[in-house]
Amino acid sequence: MPTVEPPRVAIVGAGPAGLFAAAALVADPDLRVDIFDRMPTPFGLLRYGVAPDHASIKAVATTLARVFESDRVRFLGLVEFGRDVTAAELVAAYDAVIYAVGAADDRRLGIPGEDLPGSRSARQFVAWYSGHPDAEPQPLAGVRDAVVVGVGNVAVDVARILLKDPASLSSTDMPDQVLEELRSAEVERVWLVGRRGPQHATFTTPELRELLETPGIAVTVEGCDLGAIDEPGLERHARANLAAIARAVAESPATPDRWLHLLFWHRPVELSGAGLVQAVRFEPTAPGGEAVTVRADLVLRSIGYLGVPLPGVPFDGGRIHNHEGRVLELDGSARPGEYAVGWIKRGPVGLIGSNKKDAAETVGHLLADLAVQPRRPLRNLDATLAARGVRPSDLADWRRIDEAEIARGGIRGRERTKIEAWHDLLDLVRAGQVKD
Ligand code: NAP
Repeated sequence: MPTVEPPRVAIVGAGPAGLFAAAALVADPDLRVDIFDRMPTPFGLLRYGVAPDHASIKAVATTLARVFESDRVRFLGLVEFGRDVTAAELVAAYDAVIYAVGAADDRRLGIPGEDLPGSRSARQFVAWYSGHPDAEPQPLAGVRDAVVVGVGNVAVDVARILLKDPASLSSTDMPDQVLEELRSAEVERVWLVGRRGPQHATFTTPELRELLETPGIAVTVEGCDLGAIDEPGLERHARANLAAIARAVAESPATPDRWLHLLFWHRPVELSGAGLVQAVRFEPTAPGGEAVTVRADLVLRSIGYLGVPLPGVPFDGGRIHNHEGRVLELDGSARPGEYAVGWIKRGPVGLIGSNKKDAAETVGHLLADLAVQPRRPLRNLDATLAARGVRPSDLADWRRIDEAEIARGGIRGRERTKIEAWHDLLDLVRAGQVKD
């Protein structure tokens, strides 16, 4: 009798969504899983998005990394979807393909002055302080007044990093240059601006409280009267947010080191400045409000991430077109063998942990489909990649990077210091490949 090869699944993206999906897949004793990523390092936004001072969330990486202990899982780093491999090639080489690429772009305000130097996306700023090798430098020297547009958790993260005493960040895994740049900043005020009221903000209460409790800051609220908000049916978390803000305002020190101004019911309409951003003009979004112009040396647009279409995969409304993780053609017809998880499936909302349930839903459908799907002969993708000169990095390469970062941190008395330069990451990958 001919032997039947175990089913093979490809996952594109080794972030939390991809790794939760991998963990759900290897629970099936038969499946083989190949996880592709354009980086030589796994963990996606856990490594390059979760704030460096959020060690407990980052620790989820330890749990997620367990999936690599299975000898049925391979990590193929430095393989970029669309450049090194296409959707059709993956479909030809695997019984199923899961796209777990997240949301790689950011939304834009679409207002004059948005591209002035000094106006940046929070995504870029986060990538920079997280040591992403593609991040652009973020000069902060001379920044006294910063405006953050948006009142979600990313806005809260970037505001906190700007307001914190840089000395308190020196134990994190931030690259040395980032810490130096933060030390050179002389931030005095951060404005956090919402186009709706504080009761509508999307930040979560623990994250908000952490920001409000930044040592040495005073908090003010502008654009609304907190005490007058009495909406029937206000959700518990909204009430908790309002209470946290009211308390922070009441308990603010008389002679603060820095200020956090929360401005609500205002939307930015123009950024202005001579060569560099200098001010942001806001118009009111509630009746009776007044236009406000805020001085700004730095503007961070934190108005949400945006999914980027994958070549050859149906895309609609900022997401892969799918139903509960099963990819669909744009006309709604079935597209067997392709699946989506995480932000590219459901949009850029939700915490790291939300991906577990999300992945379980997709993997449940995938396993049900595999059980009834006739097997077909599969192509050998390793050979295709080799013929193209694509040499994936592997887990041993990642472990070498991991150890080098831990060693780098050790010299500085920290748990880890990120390696943020491509050439250093690639040198560590090559150090392993020479032996092959
Ligand atoms: P988000 O929660 O969707 O927040 C986006 C913010 O931008 C909202 O305040 C939104 O206001 C505002 N906005 C959108 N378009 C705007 C415009 N044109 N002008 C002005 N304001 C505009 O997204 P996020 O902060 O990027 O976070 C993404 C996800 O990651 C969220 O689920 C978040 O909880 C999660 N996250 C969690 C953590 C953590 O520490 N736990 C950290 C970072 C991110 P409206 O509500 O009025 O649209």
